[in-house]
Amino acid sequence: MNRDFYSNLIFEVSRPGRKGYKLPKNEFEKVALPSQLMRETAPELPEVDEPSVVRHYNNLSTNNFGVDTGFYPLGSCTMKYNPKINEEIASHPSITHLHPMQPESTVQGALELYHILQGYLAEIGGMKEFTLNPFAGAHGELTGLMVIRAYHMSRNDVKRVKVIVPDSAHGTNPASAAVAGLEIVEVKSREDGTVDVDDLRPLLDETIAAVMMTNPNTLGIFEKNIPEIANLVHEAGALLYYDGANLNPMLGMARPGDMGFDVMHINLHKTFSTPHGGGGPGSGPVGVREGLEQFLPNPRVVKNNDGSYSLSTTETALGCVSATLGNFAVQARALAYILSLGHEGLAEAGKLATLNANYVKERLRDSYLLPIDGLCKHEFVFDGLKDKSTGVTTLNVAKRLLDRGYHAPTIYFPLLFHEALMIEPTETESKDTLDEFISVMHDIAREATEDPETVKTAPHLTPVTRPDDTEAALHPIVTWSELNAK
Ligand SMILES: *Cc1c(COP(=O)(O)O)cnc(C)c1O
Repeated sequence: MNRDFYSNLIFEVSRPGRKGYKLPKNEFEKVALPSQLMRETAPELPEVDEPSVVRHYNNLSTNNFGVDTGFYPLGSCTMKYNPKINEEIASHPSITHLHPMQPESTVQGALELYHILQGYLAEIGGMKEFTLNPFAGAHGELTGLMVIRAYHMSRNDVKRVKVIVPDSAHGTNPASAAVAGLEIVEVKSREDGTVDVDDLRPLLDETIAAVMMTNPNTLGIFEKNIPEIANLVHEAGALLYYDGANLNPMLGMARPGDMGFDVMHINLHKTFSTPHGGGGPGSGPVGVREGLEQFLPNPRVVKNNDGSYSLSTTETALGCVSATLGNFAVQARALAYILSLGHEGLAEAGKLATLNANYVKERLRDSYLLPIDGLCKHEFVFDGLKDKSTGVTTLNVAKRLLDRGYHAPTIYFPLLFHEALMIEPTETESKDTLDEFISVMHDIAREATEDPETVKTAPHLTPVTRPDDTEAALHPIVTWSELNAK
């Protein structure tokens, strides 16, 4: 294959005078545009023939690693296979042709979809009601914390300005708390990876608005002490928030509402299968227990006595968090996924995700350092290679995996270990796929000992090797011009 097609920009494929279109003959007289509407210089558009355009973009698309092209064990992100039936439904014209501002009477089906999905999520989460309006998990966290603030304010409990977040938490937890105008207090984890209840107890006073927990936590460990924690939090007058990004292994097995959580979000794009590499699209519905639903954002979708649906807004709501009813196509995919799996299928998903993670963990622990022993849920974390004498880091292992055709696991998160390597196989992978991955991970561990330079300088087979992340973040080049091409 011509490398130009997959490493060049379309501008670099451009040749003066080439065209990929043919306009029909102009049968009207020419009219000059007013000069103030004319640009002074012609735009720098690529000039390319049709086959070059088609090949360029098709080849580029194969550079983009996706769950449709290979195994994607990116911990914390739940990169499960996204069934194609979801796409078929979400791309149906009756969904894609909707306008968010259409009159209610013309979008009854869409409102029904929203209402049914929020009902299923309430059942799955053990909550009273969900809003589907937030656009992502982090947006859900912010919305949930705003619900919690609205609750405290409604009781005139104005001193509650702090949120307790475990040291193992996803970075979005403290970030959302800060955006909500709350202060962050960190609670420590114990050796076994779970939240230290003894560290938590003295932190709980009348200034605490909420405690945010993830269960299973970001290490893939089930937090067994939630009932005790819920009691402590409620006795202190605070609310317990559930970061539902890790709901996957609990599907059909356990419900946050039953554990004592008051507010939660779900990442529809993770647990309920929407393609979400590269930052979108997402959906972060927020659920609340009974007694908090009046604070959910406007608008809400309600079912009327005559069976019709309408939008309702209330005074007690925290306001709006999105201009419309959220990311509707992601909601459609989630409902398609839930309906096609059914209750039994969903319960099976969680069990298989747990089985797959434990299988990979146990098979690899001879070569990779497992800092926390015991059963994990859907994911687990190694602390780099077991053989620490080679100087081969987790980054090197991740880069070498690219040469072998795998997306790298999550690296250097959570922050509890120096060489964190976080693997989440998900339930959709077969034992054959897992065995191949295990064998490649063993190869890399062996190579790290026998030929460390090859691992340290990987990847060797990708079009781009080691971009300078820091330079790219500090001085990104986001436009093309002849100048920066040289
Ligand atoms: C992914 C994730 C989030 C954030 O969700 P986004 O949809 O990416 O905003 C929060 N918490 C945990 C544990 C996550 O894995």
